[in-house]
Parts: sequence; C-alpha cells; structure tokens
Amino acid sequence: MRLVLLGPPGSGKGTQAARLAARHGVPAISTGQIFESDIAAGTPLGKQAEDYVRRGELVPDTVVLEMVRERLLDRSDCAQGFVLDGFPRTLPQAEGLDRNLVNACGELDVVIDLDVDESEVLERIAGRARTEGRVDDTRETAINRLKVFTDETAPLRRYYRDRALLVTVDGTGSPDEVADRIEAALADRAARRPRLV
Ligand code: ADP
Repeated sequence: MRLVLLGPPGSGKGTQAARLAARHGVPAISTGQIFESDIAAGTPLGKQAEDYVRRGELVPDTVVLEMVRERLLDRSDCAQGFVLDGFPRTLPQAEGLDRNLVNACGELDVVIDLDVDESEVLERIAGRARTEGRVDDTRETAINRLKVFTDETAPLRRYYRDRALLVTVDGTGSPDEVADRIEAALADRAARRPRLV
C-alpha cells in the first residue's frame, strides 16, 4: 500500500497514519515528526527547519524533498509500501513525489483526505497545546497553519482528484470511528478497482 494522508493541521493525520501503518505492515513517514525530532536533537536539518516550524510556515520544498527522497529511496522502505503523513503539502512537492517515486516504488494507490472543519481543528489544536505543549501549537500559529493549508495544500485535492486518487473521509468523531471509515473506504475502493493478477 502506497498511501498519502491529506487534511488540515489537527485533522488526525498522525493518529490515523500510525494505525494504518500497524494494520497494513508498512512504515508511516511523518515529515512533521521528522522535523520535530531533528529540531529537538539540533541536527543540521533541524536547524534548517526550526524557524519555519515555529512560525507555522512551510519548510522550503527543496529541503523537504531531499529529506523525503533520502527516507524513501535511500533506506529503500518504499518497496514494501508506506503511509505518508504531512507530505506532500505543496504542488511542487506532489510533482517531486511523482517524479522520484514512480520508478523506484511504483505509483501511489490512494490519497485519503481527512475532512474536518476549521472551527473543529482549531479546538483540537488548542486542546493538544494544553496536553502536549508542541512548539507550534499556539493559537496564532495554528491560524497561520490553517491559512497555509488553504493556500498551499488544499489545491492538492484537485491534483489528486484529477488522477482519480482522492478519497474524502469524514474526520470527525473518535479515532476508532475515523479508522473504521478509512478501512471501509479502502475496501470499497479495492472492490471497485480489482487489480490484475
Ligand atoms: P500539522 O499537520 O498539525 O500542522 P505537522 O507535524 O504535520 O503538523 O507539521 C508541523 C510543521 O512542520 C508544519 O507547520 C511545517 O512547518 C513543517 N512541515 C511538515 N511537513 C512539511 C512539508 N511537507 N512541507 C513543508 N513543511 C512541512
């Protein structure tokens, strides 16, 4: 399974990526988490990313693409499949993924778009700020991340819809409910588009 999770900040991509990965036996690759741990460890990549992440802005595409290329290709994880969480987030990233991936790993199978409205994600991010204390979970930064999502990432819906890869899943309710909806959507899609064996 080669899957991308799309959806605004706070839509539950990280939670669902971990579940999908465990259930389907593939690695979950979260660009946000990689940046967070590299920032904490003070690596060169972390230093490059830190100011952007703190402001709720996107890390430049070249930095992100290099990191993902290294993770997917050089560690050759991609052969067994993957769940991408938080990547791609811009059109150049999606194009870069298409260019770099297809030869080495095969085409994407599906893009799950987690649908949660703005007021709900702002509430969730505020809750997460109280419990987890992420550097980028202030209200101001959250509002900026939502704006960045609308401007830069939401256009990817069209990109993937045009390629018949986009599946929208209601992201409200408990993590279990959302996971069940995702599995149902994947099963439905597999039933409609049987693979040739
Ligand atoms: P959320 O989806 O809740 O905003 P993430 O953990 O996915 O949280 O991302 C946190 C931050 O990491 C982003 O606001 C951005 O600064 C940076 N980041 C993560 N993935 C990307 C990406 N694909 N392109 C650019 N920046 C990214």
